[in-house]
Amino acid sequence: MAVTAPDQMTSEYFRKYVFDRAKMAKYLSKETLKVFTNVIDKGMPLDRELANHVAAGMKMWALEMGVTHYTHWFQPLTEGTAEKHDSFIEYVGAPGGSIIEEFSGKLLAQQEPDASSFPNGGLRNTFEARGYSAWDPSSPAFIVDDTLCIPTVFISYTGEALDYKTPLLKALNAINKAATDVCHYFDPSVKKVFSFLGWEQEYFLVDEGLYAARPDLLLTGRTLMGHESAKNQQLEDHYFGAIPERVQAYMKEIEYEAYKYGIPCKTRHNEVAPNQFELAPIYSETNLAVDQNLMIMSIMKRVARKHGFRVLLHEKPFAGVNGSGKHCNWSLGTDTGVGLLTPGKTPEENLQFVTFLVNILMAVYKNDALLKASIMTAQNAHRLGANEAPPAIISAFLGTQLSNILDKLENSTSEEAIVLDSKKKMRLGVALIPEVLVDNTDRNRTSPFAFTGNRFEFRAVGSSANCSCAMIVLNSAVAAQLVEFKEDVDARIASGVSKEKAIFDVLKEYIKITKPIRFDGNGYGEEWKVEAKKRGLDCETSVPLIYDAYLADKSVEMFKSVGVFNRKELEARNEVKWEMYTKKIQIEARVLGDLVVNHIIPVATRYKNLLLDNVYKLSQVYDKEMALRLSTDDTELIEELSARVSSVKKLVADMVDARRVANRIASEREKAIAYHDTVVPLFEKIRKDVDNLELIVDDEMWSLPKYRELLFIR
Ligand code: ADP
Ligand code: MG
Repeated sequence: MAVTAPDQMTSEYFRKYVFDRAKMAKYLSKETLKVFTNVIDKGMPLDRELANHVAAGMKMWALEMGVTHYTHWFQPLTEGTAEKHDSFIEYVGAPGGSIIEEFSGKLLAQQEPDASSFPNGGLRNTFEARGYSAWDPSSPAFIVDDTLCIPTVFISYTGEALDYKTPLLKALNAINKAATDVCHYFDPSVKKVFSFLGWEQEYFLVDEGLYAARPDLLLTGRTLMGHESAKNQQLEDHYFGAIPERVQAYMKEIEYEAYKYGIPCKTRHNEVAPNQFELAPIYSETNLAVDQNLMIMSIMKRVARKHGFRVLLHEKPFAGVNGSGKHCNWSLGTDTGVGLLTPGKTPEENLQFVTFLVNILMAVYKNDALLKASIMTAQNAHRLGANEAPPAIISAFLGTQLSNILDKLENSTSEEAIVLDSKKKMRLGVALIPEVLVDNTDRNRTSPFAFTGNRFEFRAVGSSANCSCAMIVLNSAVAAQLVEFKEDVDARIASGVSKEKAIFDVLKEYIKITKPIRFDGNGYGEEWKVEAKKRGLDCETSVPLIYDAYLADKSVEMFKSVGVFNRKELEARNEVKWEMYTKKIQIEARVLGDLVVNHIIPVATRYKNLLLDNVYKLSQVYDKEMALRLSTDDTELIEELSARVSSVKKLVADMVDARRVANRIASEREKAIAYHDTVVPLFEKIRKDVDNLELIVDDEMWSLPKYRELLFIR
């Protein structure tokens, strides 16, 4: 278990494998560097000549690093990333002659992976199987092993996005524009607003030997059966406890790898469940943070093997213990260094802070169903609403102090709230926000979307998700809302109201409207579900139906208004979502069926035979009455085994039938609904029988590793 504990300080090898600005300065000419910096920072267009120059510099660096191949690294609508490696080699002249390493601007800028083999919701048919990947210069190139990886977007020839990065970049562009415009009410010198993301990645580690002996983990990423361990997380002794040695070695190596890719890992700790852990970096600009999260997920999987572990990124690998999320800490900040969700020091800054806060509430209120759709998957459905996870209802937590401030604002007149001092400087007369917020102890861990002092924490995001999915919706929704806010304010100003009063009046109106989305109570409680329904919040729990939110008229309109998706793209992406849902459930159903038929029933039958044998022998040795008395325990067990086995046999047959019926449905949406309504409910029932069998069958015969082994061996 060699731990690559480096002799160097982290800062010495940080970003070793990234073509960062320091390397650009070294490998690009002064002129190229200048123009290219504008491309990155200001989104200026990238022409072929510039691409050629950058490619030449990148190639020089890559060759020095021993690189032989390059790939466009993109984010298809499946999980993870995709890449197609091409080597640098080209013939100098005619084929057969000598070769050189070649890497031109053309190759850097564009590649043509076969789009038909990635999910595309019918946007590409196999016979017109061409999509292309195009370089995203705002995300730096990096080296994995012998390959230069170039972050790219992936689009069809007709221009529709086939990936996560394209719409994310559009959403970030939209929020930049809309937020900058609103900032100009307060500070005309702001030129750019960044969206920031700091993810916290939760995961489980399982010993690789045990993992290999659980076909369900191997094939579906979660356990489909397994009786609760006598001890699990009830002692709450795992959270923030000492990190086990082998795990510590694993974490160290991930961090070492991550640093070389410029991923600023900051925090590592145990999570609530046994064998559950978390890793979080320092936040960064959202596009980069998403790329880094995808990289870290692949690093985590790779490094785990070296330490005899398998890492589980599934949202709910074990029933009865906590699932894994990927909290997305999100905020906005200006190029002048102001955090727009950080309470300010001056009254102007505070009015700006409240403006952004209230507009975010408004965006969440209007798009609660859509935000839920953005984080919902077959896997995350098991987690939400279960142990220690936010419910499948989106609400926002502000904390007592901030809630009080909004309540006061709502009930004050503009004359009270907006005070002009002797120098005609505007003051926010309501409250001194900075002081009250410093103490941020009343955090609510049950809220799916919680304000945590200088950011919102979107906690409902699943551990295996590409954060883009949530970030596209959140940034788009807030951008659209800020545009509307500006229209509302400008209309009032046009009618002769002062800017401050106009802003204040609109905010006051929004505060009233958004009340239903604000919830500071216990999100885990049953009462909340009742209350949320009363408030008109979206309470749908069926995953296929939740996806409908993407196609609701108001969502289509919202995405169109910020230029992120057109209806065709939304329809296609929903097809992919429904299809993915069906496939996940289908695979789980097959694996569960196989396990029951090939493992569980044979083991239970073998044990039953052993008991029968016993009963028979007793009848041979003792007289009838005695034999009967001595074999009562055995016969009772035999009866229970028989009953459970026939029950589970029937349930599995029902499940096969339900699948058969569902598979005949042509529409992806209807098929997914059928899987949800008729197949999924059988999982629980089957599991109940199996878990009860696990309790009564001889431990030595039980062929699958049990929860206590999976969760406590490290
Ligand atoms: P906790 O577990 O208490 O929520 P962590 O320290 O584990 O906190 O993670 C907090 C995450 O939030 C880190 O990734 C951190 O960099 C990020 N973060 C902190 N401030 C901001 C901000 N203003 N915007 C976005 N992310 C932030
Ligand atoms: Mg957190």
